[in-house]
Amino acid sequence: MSKHPSSERTLVIIKPDGIQRSLIGEIISRYERIGLKLTAVKMLVPTADMIERHYTLDPEWRMKTGLKSIKGYTDKGLKPPSTDPLKVTEKILKVLVKYMTSGPVVAMIWQGAHAVQIVRKITGGTEPLTSDVGTIRGDYVLDSYSMSDADGRAIRNVIHASGSVNEAEDEIKHWFKENEINNYKIVSEQIIYNSDLDGILE
Ligand code: ADP
Ligand code: MG
Repeated sequence: MSKHPSSERTLVIIKPDGIQRSLIGEIISRYERIGLKLTAVKMLVPTADMIERHYTLDPEWRMKTGLKSIKGYTDKGLKPPSTDPLKVTEKILKVLVKYMTSGPVVAMIWQGAHAVQIVRKITGGTEPLTSDVGTIRGDYVLDSYSMSDADGRAIRNVIHASGSVNEAEDEIKHWFKENEINNYKIVSEQIIYNSDLDGILE
């Protein structure tokens, strides 16, 4: 039997700048208020190895991220630092490790229907300059590819969120042990998922 959609899970990391900007509560409340369920949470300072492995769990990540960054430049009529996506990503990975190991992060698992897509929608696009208004990255960050490049650093966008269901499951295994994950019910799930809505009226 296939799993109910409400069991979909995604990994979210509040990056070191999110912690420094005192956005932990705000970010958690954004995912909580839409109806997702927090099933695991911890604060830690990641090692360089953890970050490098995290970003390369998906063998396609280097190519996809390089292409997306190049498009970010060309869409604005700017010249990308290189036309080779893999060269672009090699630089990104280096600065990303520095960024993500600079201080504590909060790693979380959020569960619910379409968890991956819903969290990406609320989080917003990678480059805060062009992330939609109303998204977390769009509302709380003003960074851009051109500024992060000029300063030789990673884009500071306060959050990591898994990009696909497969990526999410791999990343969850990378960050959490099975016994750190809480399987439990919250009462709001009755209203969100129960097909009958029995028991409201007295
Ligand atoms: P997302 O986090 O939106 O899934 P990616 O997986 O493509 O984005 O990239 C991972 C992270 O690497 C981004 O969140 C950002 O912090 C950083 N990053 C991506 N592209 C660039 C770039 N061109 N320059 C600097 N940092 C980048
Ligand atoms: Mg990604």
